[in-house]
Amino acid sequence: MRSVFYVFYTCLLLSLFSCSTPETKGSPDHIRRTTTSVDDTKITQGIDQDWLTHGLNYQENRYSTLDQIKKENLDQLGLAWSLDLGTRRGIEATPIVIDGIMFLTGPWSMVYAIDVRKGSLIWTYDPMVPRSKGENGCCDVVNRGVALYKGRVYVGTFDGRLIAIDAATGSMDWSIMTVDSTKPYSITGAPRIVKGNVIIGNGGAEYGVRGYITAYDATTGDQKWRFYTVPGNPALPFESEAMKKAAETWTGEWWKYGGGGTAWDAMAFDPQLNLLYVGTGNGSPWNRQYRSPDGGDNLYLSSIVALNPDSGTLEWYYQTTPGDTWDFTATQHIILADLPIAGRIRKVLMQAPKNGFFYVIDRATGEFISADTFVYVNWATGVDPNTGRPIESSFARFESVNADIAPNYDGGHNWHPMAYNPNTGLVYIPAREVVARYGHDPNWEYQKKGFGSGNGWNLGTGFNPAKPYLEDSLAKTQNYHAKLIGWNPVTRRAEWKVPQTAAWNGGLLTTKSNLLFQGTGDGQLIIYDAFDGSELWQTNLGGGNIAPPVTYMVDGKQYVSIAVGWGGGVGQKYKFAPLQPGRVFTFSLQGKAKYPSYLQASERNIADIPFSANKTELANGADIFNRYCSICHVLNKDGGGIIPNLTYTSADVHQNFQSIVRGGVLLSLGMPNFGDRLSEKDVNDLQKFILNSAKTISKK
Ligand code: CA
Repeated sequence: MRSVFYVFYTCLLLSLFSCSTPETKGSPDHIRRTTTSVDDTKITQGIDQDWLTHGLNYQENRYSTLDQIKKENLDQLGLAWSLDLGTRRGIEATPIVIDGIMFLTGPWSMVYAIDVRKGSLIWTYDPMVPRSKGENGCCDVVNRGVALYKGRVYVGTFDGRLIAIDAATGSMDWSIMTVDSTKPYSITGAPRIVKGNVIIGNGGAEYGVRGYITAYDATTGDQKWRFYTVPGNPALPFESEAMKKAAETWTGEWWKYGGGGTAWDAMAFDPQLNLLYVGTGNGSPWNRQYRSPDGGDNLYLSSIVALNPDSGTLEWYYQTTPGDTWDFTATQHIILADLPIAGRIRKVLMQAPKNGFFYVIDRATGEFISADTFVYVNWATGVDPNTGRPIESSFARFESVNADIAPNYDGGHNWHPMAYNPNTGLVYIPAREVVARYGHDPNWEYQKKGFGSGNGWNLGTGFNPAKPYLEDSLAKTQNYHAKLIGWNPVTRRAEWKVPQTAAWNGGLLTTKSNLLFQGTGDGQLIIYDAFDGSELWQTNLGGGNIAPPVTYMVDGKQYVSIAVGWGGGVGQKYKFAPLQPGRVFTFSLQGKAKYPSYLQASERNIADIPFSANKTELANGADIFNRYCSICHVLNKDGGGIIPNLTYTSADVHQNFQSIVRGGVLLSLGMPNFGDRLSEKDVNDLQKFILNSAKTISKK
């Protein structure tokens, strides 16, 4: 009896003690306590006070039930703080936020813990990604964010590691290499937590890899299961029944080129159905004729696969683009919702992948419900409602012609998250009109280290000059026009479209107060009316934005945060606002902070350097530019994003050209060292080609 009283009084004393010295918000103790509480139940409940998982909840709808910020008080919305991250490449991350502690990722898979109450950094974790790995990604050294679970922050790094970080201290708990480092894999996607496992995919299908997704025990890092998205060498045992079935849809010797199908972004989870949904990527190489010469659907490329999250076994799949040959990934955002369709409520998943069709699929069974074009599409005339297969246009596979195909490899919609608002019934799509010329390169041969496994950029898959060119002038008139679309998935049409100035814009957030938030490529944060797309509020962020905004409450106040960091696939080569350092902006009602000063665009000059070049040298230089440089650099009058436009290469860069291209002296900035692939003569020819192009451009 005495001991019971003793315990009682001790507890009373302890609780009195902790009451007299309140925990400091933002301290390691506070972060440890609050982040340790993040478990499966908490994520499943999806309480919007915090932003606990990538898409806000397992449905990934990015619809927040917070409504303190509303149409009626937007005149009071202002900057609470901004924070410079000291970076200069793309930021695509969705911040994770709990009780005023934000976890954000930046370029090169850097992780930041930020105190929202103060607008200051708590800790920074640098995974020290070798800069030589930068060349393994097509679309900038970006990262889309972390996962948070039981006191740990998880990040997938650009060089393929999965790292568990102590949320309170920023120190590493464990690190696992999830890929074969001798192959050009990368990770840019955010991990998800499902039933105690960290789920992570990878990228690299542009360079020749075999895609897969893996579950690791969140506590120990032990591998639980791995699901390959495409089959390996059929002479070896298949990893699963799914791979055996998939192999029947491939021809030739695809495994030598990797096959592709990398799951580099989208996931969603339905706890009731116990299904994990994953979007898979394009074929590797792009062109099916190279990869699987006798045709076939090439499962499970460009598909949504529904997996049992406990075992990783395939429950069902839906392939959006059978036999992909255009880089039509289905890695785009997947949203789960329950919709009234033909008189009954159906559990659906929705996706607007690159191929230009908006899909509604039964998420319990994988049954096709509907698919409709949300941008201009010419590769298919529709999707057969009975089979769920696209009805391809005669020229779609560019076999007898070089053809303009719409949409193209950039996608009618790319990775930028959509949002779904149950009040308006609309899915918001950051969409783009895009077209590119596709053709077969008669001289294609597999090349291990090169974009497209050997066909270079070359606007797709290469051309056959002996074949005619089929132009699509309608597609060309609207090429590279972006639009924000309010899409009704039940009536299957756009209720409204907002044309946009920049051709590459940010992801979306919608709220219960029927606001729709988006940062734009020309540097604005805009709030739209979620019902009709009318603009309600706008502020200047200085530089182009691609990342999606998030919202959350701290101490009873609603905040909206957005990270600015221009870059990504399009942002490497083009910009629509001056470049700014990586920066987080946070807004609230009565926010009155001073905006940071913005950098202005710098002058560009064409260096006057004498040179002489013959036709053979220029042709070799052009070929090298196409194969190795054009993935990141442009050579034209107006372009140039976060990666320099080579037209304006300065005299000092020209003087050090060999040591930059073949010696790796700018490796720390992400400029690869091509010394293992290009000879001194190759680089001389490349330089002559650049000088000659710049001269030609300056004369125009
Ligand atoms: Ca791709």
